[in-house]
Amino acid sequence: MENYNFKRPVQENYNLTKKHLFKKIAGNARYYYELRNDESLDNDLEELSKLYQDDMPFRIYGMHTNLYITSNGYEGMFIDMSPKKSYVKFDEESEEFICSGNLLTTQLVNFAMKKGYDFASLAGVPGMIGAGVVGNASFATGKEFCDYVKRITLFDFESGKYVEITPDEKSFSTRNSFIKKANQNKTRYFVKEVVLWSEQIGENGVRAKYQAQMDLRTKDLRIGYLEGCAGSIWSNIDLRNKIGVSFRKVVMGTDVFNVDFNGARYSKFGSRFFTLNKETTEKDVAKLMKYTIDKMEELYHIKPEKEVIFLDYDGEVDIDTYINRYI
Ligand SMILES: Cc1cc2nc3c(=O)[nH]c(=O)nc-3n(C[C@H](O)[C@H](O)[C@H](O)COP(=O)(O)OP(=O)(O)OC[C@H]3O[C@@H](n4cnc5c(N)ncnc54)[C@H](O)[C@@H]3O)c2cc1C
Repeated sequence: MENYNFKRPVQENYNLTKKHLFKKIAGNARYYYELRNDESLDNDLEELSKLYQDDMPFRIYGMHTNLYITSNGYEGMFIDMSPKKSYVKFDEESEEFICSGNLLTTQLVNFAMKKGYDFASLAGVPGMIGAGVVGNASFATGKEFCDYVKRITLFDFESGKYVEITPDEKSFSTRNSFIKKANQNKTRYFVKEVVLWSEQIGENGVRAKYQAQMDLRTKDLRIGYLEGCAGSIWSNIDLRNKIGVSFRKVVMGTDVFNVDFNGARYSKFGSRFFTLNKETTEKDVAKLMKYTIDKMEELYHIKPEKEVIFLDYDGEVDIDTYINRYI
């Protein structure tokens, strides 16, 4: 790392356990760095651009709410975007909300609600705006992030420059975006700023929609935070398209998924989110994943899509790679 001039020291052999939100022992990152939304950001993004040119792997994360980190850690640089110094500004004329990538989605929803602008479909979606755009986050069948996005300012590690993108209908799909696709094997883009727009329906109208969504979500979210678990490990949108119901409904309708592979299981407390213990190994998790895929095939003749990101030693891996590696 001596060839790179980051503004603060890069840490080596950094343990990722506390970056893993659902109570598992995670391995070490070879390098760890925290990006900050201050005067150091431009310099640090330029340094990351040099890493990109040198083929040194790195991944950038927000609040880790969509992330499973294996016990083998990550052999590249694990980068956090600090949530500090985030901002949201409202442009009265264009009625646009200009948000830093590290703003929490809940902060936008609440800020806009007071002005009567409707982002209620994002109520209860944890994490940062930048990640929400990358993963085109949404709840159930409501509006997705892409329905609100006007413009995105990205840092492009390939050119070493900022670019402003106006997305079109090809830019996003279910839980996916051109950014996620471009970053799949090598991190090319960082989301710096996002401009969003929504309808003005008045504060009371937004509050009613917000409350209706939170009434559906609060219990599960509380279980998630208390118990420590990922949100939907399997894409509910995908399942609704294929079999008409969410994974929760699938699990509630049968005892088949009431299994426990040394702590790897679906929460018994009602949410049916994926969870595990400190003792749970990769083999146990892989067994639960394989079991689920096999049973879904047997019961519904479909293969569910994984939603949570699995970070292994060499980067983000798909579910088949993960299962083949650890069983
Ligand atoms: C209890 C619970 C409930 C959830 N409910 C929902 C839900 O209703 N709807 C939904 O869609 N999701 C849901 N999720 C998943 C998760 O909250 C979303 O995917 C969220 O957008 C992730 O935000 P994050 O900041 O935690 O991102 P992280 O998990 O830290 O990262 C997610 C991805 O975004 C990328 N990324 C993050 N920041 C940037 C950036 N600035 N530039 C480029 N790439 C970046 C990362 O590389 C990674 O690939 C839930 C999760 C939990 C734990």
